[in-house]
Amino acid sequence: MRLRDFVPTEWCLRCDRCCRFNSAINPWIPVFSAKEVEEIINRGQDPVVFNKSEDEADGIDVRVKVRPYQDYYVCPFFDVEKNCCRIYPFRPFDCRLYPFLLVKKEGNVYIGIDKDCPFVAHLYEDEQDWVVQKFADYLVDALLSVDGRDEVGSHPSMIAEYPGNVSLLRELRF
Ligand code: SF4
Ligand code: SF4
Repeated sequence: MRLRDFVPTEWCLRCDRCCRFNSAINPWIPVFSAKEVEEIINRGQDPVVFNKSEDEADGIDVRVKVRPYQDYYVCPFFDVEKNCCRIYPFRPFDCRLYPFLLVKKEGNVYIGIDKDCPFVAHLYEDEQDWVVQKFADYLVDALLSVDGRDEVGSHPSMIAEYPGNVSLLRELRF
């Protein structure tokens, strides 16, 4: 499914927040559907980077094995020298959705946003949060479409339990 880009590429090229993690087991490590894994392997990437752990859903989707770098962990597709994603044009839906996230709270699913993303922080500082709200409306329509439901359904592990530091924007009623 194609999603409109929210964050201008030049912002992401100056930032590595999405691609590094403070632990090797972390709910924010990206989730790949079986179709995305197949595409990435067909494009020459090593299948060994994909991890199937016990808490993931029935082999429908998997996370990547992050690797230690300095005092944190990075996605195996993150080029630390160039500060960019090596599979950017075909990065998974989970990464394309960011800084928006899907979170579960008290049995309901919400679209949330990470206000620590520098681009999002800049919008809130400049009182342009209407841009975020407008995009959230677009996402509700996109994710509740037939293609959107299929995409979310093929990534069940990406709906994380509400972590508290995510701002909830819209409820999604699938
Ligand atoms: S945190 Fe925001 S600006 Fe940084 S890489 Fe992720 S989406 Fe791009
Ligand atoms: S797939 Fe690309 S965008 Fe996603 S976390 Fe890995 S390096 Fe970052």
